[in-house]
Amino acid sequence: SMASPALLMRVVASAYSVAEKAATIVRNVMSAGDLGIVEKAGPNDLQTKADRLVQMSICASLARKFPKVTIIGEEELPTDDVTEDLIEDGHCEEILKKPCPAQYTGIKEEELVIWVDPLDGTKEYTEGLLDHVTVLIGIAYGGKAIAGVINQPYYNYEAGANAVLGRTIWGVVGMGAFGFQLTEAPAGKHIIVTTRSHSSALVNECITALNPDHVIRVGGAGNKIIQLIEGKASAYVFASPGCKKWDTCAPEAILHAVGGKITDICGNSFQYNKEVKHMNSAGVLATLRNYDYYASRIPNTVKGSLVP
Ligand code: AMP
Ligand code: MG
Ligand code: MG
Repeated sequence: SMASPALLMRVVASAYSVAEKAATIVRNVMSAGDLGIVEKAGPNDLQTKADRLVQMSICASLARKFPKVTIIGEEELPTDDVTEDLIEDGHCEEILKKPCPAQYTGIKEEELVIWVDPLDGTKEYTEGLLDHVTVLIGIAYGGKAIAGVINQPYYNYEAGANAVLGRTIWGVVGMGAFGFQLTEAPAGKHIIVTTRSHSSALVNECITALNPDHVIRVGGAGNKIIQLIEGKASAYVFASPGCKKWDTCAPEAILHAVGGKITDICGNSFQYNKEVKHMNSAGVLATLRNYDYYASRIPNTVKGSLVP
């Protein structure tokens, strides 16, 4: 008889449906028109009603199905007032049918950590740059990002009324990533994707030192990883603190699943165990291909300014 699906595949299959529900909430809050914007650390660190509702939806839905998994979300919120309409209990059948990579079949609930960014690219969401927004659910085991779901609620929103709005990208290390067309960036060109709303002198100094042919400035860590795996950019370079573990966990799993690499600016890999500090203080360097080319050209002065 068929063995029941491995825990990891059940978590990913549920996270897929939970992320689709999240996308609906993100779109509904925007169309209702009242974003309920709250400043956290300052005007470049915002939270909206969508960030709050989506975090409650994702965390409560996954916690109900997988009570022993550690779930860490970006927003600090009370956990007691989650209404039933926010709960998603479905899962993606297609994902459940796929075999779990052998190294992950024995994982137990208490060994998983799920990092949730309910809405990545909030600043851009409030400014109407809607396709910069993603919902990120990253799954870690043994301190490593091993699976992830990235939902882009406004994918295709400028493609006309006949286009399907929104998409869900998912992946597992050792299995691959799905829901998009893997594309290499143009050969021989150095196209850097970086922040649009969190620049600094150091961020720009680092990019200049890489002598790029082109620089793309867009919001969101999830969005920038999508630019890499769809061949729009050759490297994601962010020489600054500010990006957190929930920003990088799902993107890292998907990037690694297709053979890419992500580290901090100094070349250190990220850890995702539940005790780890949240801030990626030494920034981000990510590529689909040619990681060593970019890593070897980051100036030592830039590395020295960022403490992991
Ligand atoms: P960005 O590329 O600017 O969209 O940043 C990617 C992620 O890191 C987003 O979730 C940002 O909110 C977060 N982030 C980056 N820099 C900062 C900062 N200086 N303050 C707060 N959040 C930041
Ligand atoms: Mg974020
Ligand atoms: Mg966020």
